[in-house]
Amino acid sequence: MSRPAVFIDRDGTINEQMGYINHLSRFVLLPRVAEAVRALNASGFASIVVSNQSGVARGYFPIELVYEVHDRMQDLLSKKGARLDGIFFCPHHTQGIIPEYTVSCDCRKPGIGLIEQARNELDLDMSSSYVIGDRCQDLEMARRAGLESVLVLTGYGRGEREYILPRERVKPAYIAEDLLDGVRWIINSRKQETG
Ligand SMILES: [Mg+2]
Ligand SMILES: [Zn+2]
Repeated sequence: MSRPAVFIDRDGTINEQMGYINHLSRFVLLPRVAEAVRALNASGFASIVVSNQSGVARGYFPIELVYEVHDRMQDLLSKKGARLDGIFFCPHHTQGIIPEYTVSCDCRKPGIGLIEQARNELDLDMSSSYVIGDRCQDLEMARRAGLESVLVLTGYGRGEREYILPRERVKPAYIAEDLLDGVRWIINSRKQETG
């Protein structure tokens, strides 16, 4: 049976915004993130990370580091009883220096390629799925995919709300203090719909 998904941005939403995560030591989980993912696990939503990692194309770090960071992320979460159901990322950029990844792709957000990859690999009910992230590009990806979105005020969120959001055509369905607040709002919204 297909289940709805929450597509979760990584940097600034799950872990502290520190620019490029070019070393394992720069990956620091934000407070209440494990609780948020646990709530998704219990609610029947698939929890799926979708992340731009253009540092790979730019030659700032190897793609292996991205996998190491994701192992660390799953590890830290599983120690707190939380599980991510999928992790998808875009290593590309048109102005990179690593030829293999220096391409124009459809998976760099706000493109919807990562969502499509997830949909192809997992059995997802897209009609009741959401996107949550700290940047307007996350909201724009949601719009292009026909999904509702939540902006979190962690990471770049406060600045995005103040300086970027007013000129964007996309508006989030909800603005959340953090991932847990956003997840709770999503779970409650669905309960009301199916009520
Ligand atoms: Mg982000
Ligand atoms: Zn890409």
